[in-house]
Amino acid sequence: MPQSTSLNSHSLRVAIIGGGPAGLMAAEVIASAGFKVSLYDAMPSVGRKFLLAGVGGMNITHSESHEKLLARYANATPFLTSYLNEFSSEQLRDWIHGLGVETFVGSSGRVFPRDMKAAPLLRAWLHRLRELGVEFYPRHRWNGWEDDGSLRIIDQQNNEHVEKNIAADAVVLALGGASWQRLGSDGAWVNLLREEDIAIADLLPSNCGFETPWSEKFKQEFSGAPLQTINLTAVDQKGVAHTIRGEAMIANTGIEGTSVYALSAMLRDSIIATGNAELTIDLLPDLSAEKIQSLLNKPRGKNSASNFLRKQLNLPSIKLSLLRELTPVTIWQDNSKLAQAIKNLRLQLNDYRPIDEAISTAGGIQSTELNNQLMLEKLRGVFCAGEMLDWEAPTGGYLLTACFATGRAAGFGVVDYLRQTQS
Ligand SMILES: Cc1cc2nc3c(=O)[nH]c(=O)nc-3n(C[C@H](O)[C@H](O)[C@H](O)COP(=O)(O)OP(=O)(O)OC[C@H]3O[C@@H](n4cnc5c(N)ncnc54)[C@H](O)[C@@H]3O)c2cc1C
Repeated sequence: MPQSTSLNSHSLRVAIIGGGPAGLMAAEVIASAGFKVSLYDAMPSVGRKFLLAGVGGMNITHSESHEKLLARYANATPFLTSYLNEFSSEQLRDWIHGLGVETFVGSSGRVFPRDMKAAPLLRAWLHRLRELGVEFYPRHRWNGWEDDGSLRIIDQQNNEHVEKNIAADAVVLALGGASWQRLGSDGAWVNLLREEDIAIADLLPSNCGFETPWSEKFKQEFSGAPLQTINLTAVDQKGVAHTIRGEAMIANTGIEGTSVYALSAMLRDSIIATGNAELTIDLLPDLSAEKIQSLLNKPRGKNSASNFLRKQLNLPSIKLSLLRELTPVTIWQDNSKLAQAIKNLRLQLNDYRPIDEAISTAGGIQSTELNNQLMLEKLRGVFCAGEMLDWEAPTGGYLLTACFATGRAAGFGVVDYLRQTQS
């Protein structure tokens, strides 16, 4: 698709669309190889989602073994393995250190910048990119291709809407997914690429919350409250149960939080396949059902059922109310059934929350459309990277790790492509 305007080595121009971690990483690789790089982004500044990721503590990668890390990408592991082999979490950490930002490993094995923030890292990185000659064009929205292969770019600076046609010798698309659209990635690229006959798996929420019809009383009292130390179990399409220990957050519309996100792919897929999903909650993961029953069998005295449970089992009010919310009154008379319910509380989920609220996006450009250097087979010279590719992963630094690794691979793909063009 891009048409070579010149075969003179360093006058070859590369356009990168999208200034998130994937696009910036591609820019670094390509500019380091001596090519001219222009980076266009629809927003007034680059890296907005990256900066937001740093607000609650930027988890940039994970320290677990490379094999374990690869397995986090589930169905997409075969697709991503070569890119992650070339830029592992270790190499990513070294690269961060090279920007003058130290990292540390948290108790969960997650890796963070020393001060937990994204801004110092982004600042140092943009400084490096400018030194390499990368030119930035904020408020420039890509809107497809002209018939001659040039990029249709809408310059929205100064509140204007000026259409420009930009010729480039190679292009990297790093447009992100479709969550948190106000930060720039809005998924509008899906239609632009489908028009070019590129197969795109529908964009779906990943690491998202789920809906359940709480009673008015329960949501008024507990919306926004954490449900702490629980086990959550979901069963995947193959019938395999997956259990996560951690916490969830009660939301007005349902349930969310890190442990729910970790199970979100299978819960979402179950909703798509059958219209609903079931989450099993173990309210007391450190006590067996037998132990709970023996504690419940002790004399209750003058205590009400709730008071007795609270005292005997150390159940906080949110867990007690959830138990009441999800069980029929009849089982409260039967200690064996009550103990079972505490260990296996079933929560029916009837929908997932909208993609805009999700942490990340599943779906995207299918791997079959790309060569092993991430160039679109149908559009020569157009490379793709980051969250817009068809993969998903839980939170834990895996999202950024794959964005960096694919951005880097697309960058090297462009460099090889341009060198072949020159020879
Ligand atoms: C609240 C939150 C917290 C997160 N925390 C973490 C975390 O701790 N660890 C982790 O690993 N991941 C985290 N993530 C996910 C991570 O931020 C993303 O996976 C990552 O930013 C995706 O990188 P990307 O380069 O593919 O796309 P993006 O970062 O989304 O960048 C895409 C860029 O393309 C631009 N763009 C889109 N369309 C156009 C167009 N038509 N023309 C021009 N420009 C366009 C956008 O403006 C944007 O700048 C978090 C996400 C969210 C929402």
